Amino acid sequence: VFSLYIKQVDVPGKNHGFLLVFRDRTEEERLNRMKNELISVVSHELRTPVATIMGYVELMMMYDLPASQRQEFMETISSEGSRLSSLLDDVLDIQRLDNDGMTYHMTYVPLLELIEGVAEQWNIKSVQRIYVHAFNGDFFAYADQNRMVQVLHNLVGNAVKYSPGTDRIDITLWEEDEWICIDVRDYGIGIPENVQDMLFTKFYRVDNSDHRQIGGTGLGLYISRKIVEDHHGTLTFLSASDKGSTFKIRLPKQEDLL
Ligand code: ADP
Repeated sequence: VFSLYIKQVDVPGKNHGFLLVFRDRTEEERLNRMKNELISVVSHELRTPVATIMGYVELMMMYDLPASQRQEFMETISSEGSRLSSLLDDVLDIQRLDNDGMTYHMTYVPLLELIEGVAEQWNIKSVQRIYVHAFNGDFFAYADQNRMVQVLHNLVGNAVKYSPGTDRIDITLWEEDEWICIDVRDYGIGIPENVQDMLFTKFYRVDNSDHRQIGGTGLGLYISRKIVEDHHGTLTFLSASDKGSTFKIRLPKQEDLL
């Protein structure tokens, strides 16, 4: 994208001159598009939780509801509040990634414990049961604990979200040489082969009716892959439509491999 403008230059004692100015605005346009996309995706995703919270609060203010119903409404308000807060976290992360990058607080992290914690939290709220299988290893990785929790929540959350009507999700952990391997497997709607290349692109969401009716921003996988790669690991997947997906994290165990 170029902009072109003509500037008149007056040099005293000389003829008038004109200057043709070309300016390459490709990068500027790209950033603008990205900003617009962020605003439109985020405001769309804000709409539902905000409307739900407002609606429930108004109902509770207007009516003297039985305790059990109040409790149910409060739980919904709380989970919609968490959705808002994780959406804001994603926006801040995108901001960080696009500027200076993220900063990491590295320690030896007990991944099995972490994964069991994440599975437990999802087991409370998801229809599917999350099973954790671990084989031979201590599963300590040199990593940023909170960022690892974030990646796992994102992958398990997607597995839950994109496998309606199924009853299980399997997380498998094992060690191979100096690597820790984690697979998150669901049996849901899967990812069509012709769009698999796009999946880790910022804002990308599979554009078919099965996927569209499930909410999202297309930011989670982009952020997760960046975090895993900053740990010198990889995040990939295998998937087929209607057969489910397996998201695969590979992380180096040791500090000196980083
Ligand atoms: P979001 O879920 O917020 O849209 P993500 O970046 O986490 O964003 O995922 C990008 C897209 O990849 C999703 O919109 C969805 O179409 C697809 N996707 C991610 N995880 C799965 C999964 N486990 N099964 C099927 N599709 C998935």
